[in-house]
Amino acid sequence: LVTRLAAPGRGDTHCPYCALQCGMRLTGTTVESRDFPTNRGGLCQKGWTAAELLRTPARLTTPLVRVDGELRPASWDTAVDLVAAKLARSRDVHGADSVAVFGGGGLTNEKAYLLGKFARVALGTAQIDYNGRFCMSSAAAAGMRAFGLDRGMPFPIDDLARSAAVLLVGANPAETMPPFLQHLTGTLIVIDPRRTATAERAHLHLRPRPGTDLALALGILHAVVADGHYRGDYAAERTAGFDAAWRIAAAWWPERVERVTGVAASDQRRAAALLAGARTAHILTGRGTEQHSNGTDSVGAWINLALALGLPGTPGSGYGCLTGQGNGQGGREHGQKADQLPGYRKITDPDARAYVASVWGVPPESLPGPGRSAYELLDSLGRDDGPRALLVFGSNVVVSAPNAGHIADRLSTLDLLVVADFVLSETAALADVVFPVTQWAEEGGTMTNLEGRVLLRSTAIAAPEGVRSDLDLLRDLAIRLGQPEQRFPADPEVVFDELRRASRGGPADYSGVTYQRLRDGDQLHWPVPTTEHPGTPRMFLDSFAHPDGRARFAAVDYTGPAEPVDDEYPLLATTGRVLQHYQSGAQTRLVAELADAEPEVFVQVHPDTAARVGVGDRGRARVVSRRGETEAVVRCDPTMRLDTVFLPFHFPGAQRANLLTNPALDPYSRMPEFKVCAVRLEPS
Ligand code: SF4
Repeated sequence: LVTRLAAPGRGDTHCPYCALQCGMRLTGTTVESRDFPTNRGGLCQKGWTAAELLRTPARLTTPLVRVDGELRPASWDTAVDLVAAKLARSRDVHGADSVAVFGGGGLTNEKAYLLGKFARVALGTAQIDYNGRFCMSSAAAAGMRAFGLDRGMPFPIDDLARSAAVLLVGANPAETMPPFLQHLTGTLIVIDPRRTATAERAHLHLRPRPGTDLALALGILHAVVADGHYRGDYAAERTAGFDAAWRIAAAWWPERVERVTGVAASDQRRAAALLAGARTAHILTGRGTEQHSNGTDSVGAWINLALALGLPGTPGSGYGCLTGQGNGQGGREHGQKADQLPGYRKITDPDARAYVASVWGVPPESLPGPGRSAYELLDSLGRDDGPRALLVFGSNVVVSAPNAGHIADRLSTLDLLVVADFVLSETAALADVVFPVTQWAEEGGTMTNLEGRVLLRSTAIAAPEGVRSDLDLLRDLAIRLGQPEQRFPADPEVVFDELRRASRGGPADYSGVTYQRLRDGDQLHWPVPTTEHPGTPRMFLDSFAHPDGRARFAAVDYTGPAEPVDDEYPLLATTGRVLQHYQSGAQTRLVAELADAEPEVFVQVHPDTAARVGVGDRGRARVVSRRGETEAVVRCDPTMRLDTVFLPFHFPGAQRANLLTNPALDPYSRMPEFKVCAVRLEPS
């Protein structure tokens, strides 16, 4: 593996969107592709058009304050003074937990770090969580349980290009991160209820009924063992817990699994044989198998399969999860998560609390404990025991949260809603105060991509007048809340140096990463414990991170979706992304080329299912769940399962797919069940 790349030049930066963090160069406001290990010169349509965000007429350039029901321009000082005074009053009258903070997986490492510190030190609240809870938390919990450490891909992306077989579970990179596909050159097995653009390229496509992934993983594991592919030597040397896991999987023979999932037993055996017969192999999971009320166990079942085949920690093979948001990996390491402190430390660990408090210069006992998870936090807003004020950074929860209509109602009960964004997102439009902040190419900062590689984004273009960084805003609020200025620096490099110290000795150790090393082109995958350390592109080669060095099989059994279908709601709805849009669409809907290509929500359905309920191709239909309804254009597709409909979740207002979704939570990760709920389809 090359340890150093050419030093980034002027205008060299990374795409503002997904976790592939493709290299690009900005010349003025023109995007050029740039060779980088994740994209090798490729960009997708979102990346090519990203510069349009920098000149969007929708850009906010002045703070907005709600007066007589309307958002009106105000000066920064007026808006910051107003917010700080209201936060201080809420804290003094109702207690520190009356103020909550909601962050995002697209924020730079520096922002994620300072946001967590701001919440715990300046506000003293436990109530901070972020939208990554909706995105990565089940894979993170399963990775922690199995390996003792969670790094999305614990190997560099280059390894995938040499892998003889890849099993992709619940991921559609052909639309979400197209340049990723060039790394998949071996036999490709795709598990997805839909015939996606990725499944089209697969040698074998298994289409389980939505919500039955865990059963399918048990069936393939059963086939691996029954057909003699189990790597008992690897399991004995490097793992623990196989017997308990097998006691459950033994009862899930492929024919039984076929009855639950709809995937032919022969295809389950074929998948097992393809993986076992490959010289090197990888198993990769995505949101499709993670966003379930049993998401942690579902991912655990795929990890069991990987362990039974001897893949994790074996050179050239492995298990990983495909992080989605731009800083989905870094965003979960630096303390904006309700249960964590920087360095990916547990907030309940007394040693971690003492160490981080010493870096922050505060007494350990002053740090609050764990707060509510994202959905529970949003659901508690305005209730007797819930927060009365909320600050939102880098997130658009009105569109992206499950049961979105209910969440919008909760937001309307707040005494104070503050949103920092660069445009008036759907959530910002409901706010009492909106702060206009910098976006990707206008600010410096680091991101950590899906391989755990730390990247430097340099300032490539000046921000418009009137716009400031989130770091400036946090500093200005902290000072007004009585904090010393030096405790909340606004220079990203200074913040990063403090983050390095706070992470030292933690599971995600960044202490050897410096801006200068990144400017010099060093390729640094964490952990990087010293400034001489070359980084850790491949983890677990000698031992896993549990104290005994062994990975853990998980004794997991199949449970169905939280909401079964019935006569009133006979179809299964699943949600996801399309090529042209990213997350809530707040950014990509502003880019004309992308919005023209995919202007509105659609419901993808088998023609026979559509005919049965009396809706026609290209006509309009209502998709109705127990929580709400979405108005969508019908797209008939004969490759769809008869029992399933699909909606993309990028659209606002009555087009929100998340008006339908079920907030049933995974017991470990508190991940909501975005990927399956019961609905009916009816003519509009
Ligand atoms: Fe690359 Fe993702 Fe940006 Fe597309 S959206 S150019 S795949 S980083």
